[in-house]
Amino acid sequence: MKIGFIGLGIMGRPMAKNLLKAGHELVVYDVVRAGVDEAVAAGAKAAPSSKAVAQDCGIVITMLPNSPHVKTVVLEKDGVLEGAKPGTILIDMSSIAPGASQEIAKACAQKGVKMIDAPVSGGEPKAVDGSLSIMVGGDKAVFEQVKDDILLKMGASAVYCGEIGAGNTTKLANQVVVACNIAAVAEAFTLAKKAGVDPALVFDAIKGGLAGSTVMNAKVPMMLDGNFNPGFKVDLHIKDLNNALETGHAIGSPLPLTAAVMEMFQTLRADGRGQDDHSSLANYYAKVSGTKIGG
Ligand code: NAD
Repeated sequence: MKIGFIGLGIMGRPMAKNLLKAGHELVVYDVVRAGVDEAVAAGAKAAPSSKAVAQDCGIVITMLPNSPHVKTVVLEKDGVLEGAKPGTILIDMSSIAPGASQEIAKACAQKGVKMIDAPVSGGEPKAVDGSLSIMVGGDKAVFEQVKDDILLKMGASAVYCGEIGAGNTTKLANQVVVACNIAAVAEAFTLAKKAGVDPALVFDAIKGGLAGSTVMNAKVPMMLDGNFNPGFKVDLHIKDLNNALETGHAIGSPLPLTAAVMEMFQTLRADGRGQDDHSSLANYYAKVSGTKIGG
């Protein structure tokens, strides 16, 4: 199948490579040349614009930073809708605001383009090994059409969550749980260290109990090493929590824990740590307690 792929960053590059490995023909575009060159070296064909990608392909995937980028790529000059024929399927796999997905899908529908939102969880390692968790909103028939041959070539699971925007609502829920969980872990392990108990022993003692979590297993070793190389960046998590807070405020669903963690992330960004891994929340607690978990 010929597939267009726009947005070849940390996630898009390995996802595109997995589609090539699965035998698909790929036409790619990114404003930054490095990602395009890497995809072309793996067998993709480069296009000069998002419009040109859509002119060439009946299915187009986007993997971009946030709502404004997807709007630019799909709706603006030289964008997907300028090139797409009626019947084209647009799979937006970026993590964006659910309201933006609905807005973009409406404009797509006016051109006969069928859009689903399909954000992912799992980060770069799972993008590389093709085991992402994919959460999908939009027309269920379109989801079924692309599930096996496309989505499950990049992910280990693809779950249909509801109407357009439901994929991104699910992703926001995921990001709220992850952010609050990392903050709780950083708070608890700072307490243990300051009280004189070795945080590595605390980890061994509690990871198998009710407090244990995927977040604890992934992030506590980084906190113990003082290694905050991303991973998932503080700046990207701020973007997701902004979308969560705006969405929650718009529908009357307060997010007090999320708001607190957002301010911790803002403190890290102000300290020049926006490009750190989100486990850098340990550095927020180091700043307020005067005690480092590790490193
Ligand atoms: P990234 O910044 O590495 O990549 C985004 C790519 O989009 C870049 O290559 C950029 O040049 C390109 N781009 C931006 N504007 C463009 C335009 N107008 N036209 C063409 N290309 C354009 O980001 P990423 O880490 O790959 O993340 C992509 C999305 O996936 C984000 O929404 C992010 O929140 C989400 N996500 C990331 C991770 C992660 O661990 N990095 C995990 C899950 C989900």
